[in-house]
This record gives sequence, structure tokens and C-alpha cells, in this order.
Amino acid sequence: MKLALFDDWRPCVVLPEEGAVVDVTPVLPWQHDPDPVGNGSWIRLCRDFRVLQPRLLDMAATGARLPLNEVRLRPAALNPTKIIACASNYSAHVAEMRTVMPEQTAGAGRWLLDFDVFLKAPSSLCGPGDSVLIPADVTGSNAAVHHESELTIVIGTGGRDIPESQTLNHVLGYLPGIDVTVRGPGDRSRRKSYDTFTPIGAWLTTTDEIADPHDIDIRLTVRGELRQSVNTSMMIMKIPQIVALASRIMRLEPGDLIMTGAPAGVGPIRPGDVMEISMSGLGRMRIPVREASVGAIPDSTILDQA
Ligand code: MN
Repeated sequence: MKLALFDDWRPCVVLPEEGAVVDVTPVLPWQHDPDPVGNGSWIRLCRDFRVLQPRLLDMAATGARLPLNEVRLRPAALNPTKIIACASNYSAHVAEMRTVMPEQTAGAGRWLLDFDVFLKAPSSLCGPGDSVLIPADVTGSNAAVHHESELTIVIGTGGRDIPESQTLNHVLGYLPGIDVTVRGPGDRSRRKSYDTFTPIGAWLTTTDEIADPHDIDIRLTVRGELRQSVNTSMMIMKIPQIVALASRIMRLEPGDLIMTGAPAGVGPIRPGDVMEISMSGLGRMRIPVREASVGAIPDSTILDQA
């Protein structure tokens, strides 16, 4: 099944072959909340998917079709507690990093070439209809901003200290993701957490539709030029090892995302570029890159506290 969110953050089943989505809010055992702030609908859907699956299938078979081009698909993730990401999980990428960041990966910085997990801010998520926005301070610093196309795991049932043999029971599905990264010195969590630096989507594909997650072709182009092309069989740490390791560090919660690391071929993106990411069985998405407009997105303001 392919799951997504649309319009006012309504969960839906996506039917790509019909070019349609089916709103599933009528069969969910909770009220729809159009406010994304604190909205737990997606997390509950991830947690309870196995129980809800029969009614979702029924709704997908009989429910009203809404044309894909008449709805606004949102990022297929809402309020995850964390985005975990893997570093150095393809050996050809580890090798290229010696030339991409020679100063940072030499000497005491050699740890950057070791497999590890780190965190990206969930607020960096964006999705269909969005663009990757390069902030002015990054453009002004002349630091390169790179694309990293990564198979992304979505956690269904949470847990901690999950044994490797049990990990696939905790994985709900997969989606394509890009770990947009500022190159240069400093902590990964800053360099990868700018708003819009985690485009995902357009939908989550549940595990039952993926014969082998270690046999997915990943391709990423920029302005039509092929930059990254790999099969997930080349991952150093496989999905069970990654999930088990992450769960020994931090409790995995429903809806959490785990990005499985960049293949070789990372390279710069600039305002005006268009990325296209495709993963076999998971879909294809085009993401423009633009300069962020200067100035904060206005938050709600209390005008009268009397
Ligand atoms: Mn990455």
C-alpha cells in the first residue's frame, strides 16, 4: 500500500496507476485534525497500520478517487520524533569523501569516514510541491551544498534494543529521501538541518510491496545529468543492522525516519537546479532548488495579552 498526506494533512492511500488518491480519514478511529501542529494522526497511522490495514484496503478499493493533480500532496511524514541518518554506508562514497572534504577527513577528522548515525532536525522535512531553499548565509559562505539520495526507512511499531532478527517487524515501509548537506567544517546536525534540507516522498510504500529492500535502484539527476546511481545491495550496514543499532541508542518511535546513507556521486546543487530522484518500486520525484527569500517565516503573534 502507498500512504501519503494531502491538503489539510489528511492521510490517504495513493493509487499511482490510477493517478488518484483516496481519502481514508472516514475510516480512521480518530477525528481529523487539520492543524499540523501537534497532529498525531500520521504517527498513529504508522503505529496502528497492521490493525487498520483491512479497512484501508477496503477504502482504497471502494472509496472516491481524487485526481492526483487536484490535490496537494504533503511530505509523507508528520511530526516524527526524529530523523536518524547514516554516515558512510557505501564504500565508494566513503572513498570519494577523501577528495570532497580532504581537510575534514584527514588526520583527526578520519572518524567522518566511519559508519555512524546522527540526527537531522524533523523541521527540515519538505515534500511534493516544495523546493529545497538555500539560505543566504550558506550562499554567502561559498560552502558547497550537496545532494545525497538515500533510501529512507519509516518505523511502524516503535521499540528499543530491537534484535536484528526482529527489526523488519518494526519497519512499516520505505520512501525516497534526499539528505541535503552543506560541506565544510562543523557538526553534521547543523550542516544537514536547514529548513527544506530533507525532501521526501511523495509517498510511503509499505514493506509488503517491496520484495527486497536491498535490491532497490537509486538514481538522482541534476538538470538531467546522472549524478548518483546505485543498488541498495551495496550498503555496508544492512537495514536490520541499522535499525538494531539505532534502537540501542535511542528508542524508535512510530513514524520515525531512518535515512540509510549516501551512495557515491554526491555533488553540488545551486539555485535554479532541478533534482530528480527515483527509487525502483518507490516512485520518482522532481525537486527544484531555489534561493531562500531573506526573512523569517512569520509565526503567530499575540497582539493583546490583556
Ligand atoms: Mn547522508
